[in-house]
Amino acid sequence: MSTLSSQQLIDSAKSFGTPLYVYHAEKIGAQYDRLKNAFAGADVRFFYAAKALTNINILRYVRSTGCSIDCSSINEVKLALLAGFEPTQILYTSNNILFEEIMEAKEIGVHINIDSLSNLRKFGNAFAGTYPVGVRLRPNIMAGGNLKISTGHAESKFGVPLEDMEELLQVQKETGLHIRTLHIHTGSEIKDVEVFAKGVEVLLDVVNYFPTVEVIDLGGGFKVPYMPGEEGTDIEKLGTVLKQEFNSFEEKTGRHLQVWFEPGKFLVSEAGTFIVRVSVLKKAGDTWFAGVDSGLNHLIRPMFYGSYHHIENISNPDGPTRIYHVVGNICETDNFAENRPLPEIREGDLLAFQNAGAYCFEMSSYYNSRFRPAEILFENGEPRLIRKRDQLEDLLQNQVIGR
Ligand SMILES: *Cc1c(COP(=O)(O)O)cnc(C)c1O
Repeated sequence: MSTLSSQQLIDSAKSFGTPLYVYHAEKIGAQYDRLKNAFAGADVRFFYAAKALTNINILRYVRSTGCSIDCSSINEVKLALLAGFEPTQILYTSNNILFEEIMEAKEIGVHINIDSLSNLRKFGNAFAGTYPVGVRLRPNIMAGGNLKISTGHAESKFGVPLEDMEELLQVQKETGLHIRTLHIHTGSEIKDVEVFAKGVEVLLDVVNYFPTVEVIDLGGGFKVPYMPGEEGTDIEKLGTVLKQEFNSFEEKTGRHLQVWFEPGKFLVSEAGTFIVRVSVLKKAGDTWFAGVDSGLNHLIRPMFYGSYHHIENISNPDGPTRIYHVVGNICETDNFAENRPLPEIREGDLLAFQNAGAYCFEMSSYYNSRFRPAEILFENGEPRLIRKRDQLEDLLQNQVIGR
């Protein structure tokens, strides 16, 4: 739930208009602290997965907390530099990119995870052992299933499949490639601590083949609560379990490994709220539609993958409960919520969508030639505009107008 008060959200809508993305810096800081505390005493580094929310002000705030950054494109690497991160604080974990982009990242001097044998071979041929890299593995893990089997994830496009281990070792041997990191990222919204523990097991199994590996990178994917009463990943338990696994590995083998994580959602999801205004109330058959001044062009997660976003009617919190479809204004069926019990909605009411920090503004578009929302950031109790609302000229930007 938002850590900002309804009054702060209402005042923000008044000052900055709607639709509006509102972020809370201190909530991001608190989530980072929670991670640090859960892993206190461990040799661990956290890299914020920037693709969740890349506004440069957010990146700068994350940097100020001491967190490092994980980028999914060369442009994110460049944004991270602009936000003040040092190359040594930047990790570049991409997939299926041109080798030229990896060369560019190498020139900048960031940490690089490579996700294909083809690019690993090119890198090894070009630089041999002079520039340590990470290898993204596909661990063939299915949550809740048998964990080392190759079904389930056998179709995943990410990483080097475990089945190709021999070829990977061959590349290492032939080119002299220096592999420093073994990386996995098994998915998002993984609640089960077991899944992470199994990932570690898989990696600690194969790390024997890689004497130069110093880092185990477990990616992101921590779950945060979306529904009221729902539980996220038990980060504290995860810290305890993983510390145990790595300690006993070290006792058995005498080998010390550093652990990296790339949390996106965990750091910024709950720090964001999306405020929309109800433009039209419509009754069709037995259904009440609350039409709002937004759509899948601003928040696509419900339509894209059926995500639940909790909604509050901050204009009428004590109204009698009714059932609504909350819908957008785009020329597709863009339902934000179906059959959702909400305090009575009136035209003009402000609705606040929770968990709007991660993968929300970031996936917005100009579809239907509508402006993307403005973004504001609360820090020390004060709201600050961090992205202006678009204007008509923005829709024409980069268009070449002929005669
Ligand atoms: C998207 C992504 C993350 C972050 O995932 P969250 O679910 O937001 O924590 C981390 N690492 C990689 C490689 C990713 O692609």
